[in-house]
Amino acid sequence: MSNKHIHVTVDRLKRMAHIPDRPKKPLDPTTCPRCESHFRDEEMVANARVCTNCGHHFPITARARLDHLAGDEGWREIWTELRASDPLQFVDLEPYPDRARKAEQKTGLGEAIVVAELSIEGEPCVAAIMDFAFMGGSMGSVVGEKIARACDRAIELGVPLVTVSASGGARMQEGVLALMQMAKTVVAFEEMADARLPVIVVLAHPTTGGVWASYAALGDFTYAEPGALISFSGPRVIEQTTREKLPPDFGLAESQLKNGQIDAIVDRRELPARIGRVLRICTRPNLAQTPSLAQHLSEASGDRMGKVAESIAHTVTHTIPSIPGKVKRRVERMVDSRKAGDDR
Ligand SMILES: [Zn+2]
Repeated sequence: MSNKHIHVTVDRLKRMAHIPDRPKKPLDPTTCPRCESHFRDEEMVANARVCTNCGHHFPITARARLDHLAGDEGWREIWTELRASDPLQFVDLEPYPDRARKAEQKTGLGEAIVVAELSIEGEPCVAAIMDFAFMGGSMGSVVGEKIARACDRAIELGVPLVTVSASGGARMQEGVLALMQMAKTVVAFEEMADARLPVIVVLAHPTTGGVWASYAALGDFTYAEPGALISFSGPRVIEQTTREKLPPDFGLAESQLKNGQIDAIVDRRELPARIGRVLRICTRPNLAQTPSLAQHLSEASGDRMGKVAESIAHTVTHTIPSIPGKVKRRVERMVDSRKAGDDR
């Protein structure tokens, strides 16, 4: 290996300081950056961190989001023990393990995603919720692994998967290992499709890079929060690359809806009700496959239920002349199979 080093200077912060239209930073995390309304902490929790005056969606942690989605029923986090390794021994301004450790101290999370088993509006599901506060919600090998495992668990339990993404994209400190998570999560979503289980994807601000370019774009139902940036690259990067002026709503949830990339924009406060309704519709048994009442009764093991089944069968086959022969034969077959079961 040669001893030559490549020197890279990052002067982005310096350049950003000179952009005149940059929105001013809020003084306080509970002050709305758009309308400057101020909220108490308990008001923020009650409103799911949405401004009640202008509808601005504040950032929300993965665990607070789970509290909101699950309501009083609670949720159970799984695979909290997984941590990233550093096979590339990557150092940018500081070593990757140090950076990851600082993120853990700051957020109390082991990684940029939380996977949990829960019920939303009484409908059981598995949820994989990203947290932007942990290294910009970047997708490294642990995030990919947790999404793949979340799919495995959903298939094992026979329940839908709900994901919420908030990510700057692939985690650059893991190089190609992070890029591989794009393929891995896509394959895991394919397995959900093979198992005929639905996936609901919620795109929170921002969903960009390798996350938008992989699993986040593959939901059966794709919802976005109002004003969320959903774009592979940010508008500034694209403008610099193409030297073209982009429309002001470029990459925002509203323009993605207009262009057919997402199904709906849903206010965060409405999400539990909306997701609950979709889960209910998706998991409602297929009528063609639903056993009839007579079948239920004839298959019931209790002796009383068996007698009820026989009496229904008798009524159907002997006292209703208009009943089609096909139905009569079906009922007789069911009674016969029940009797055969009793003789065993
Ligand atoms: Zn506001």
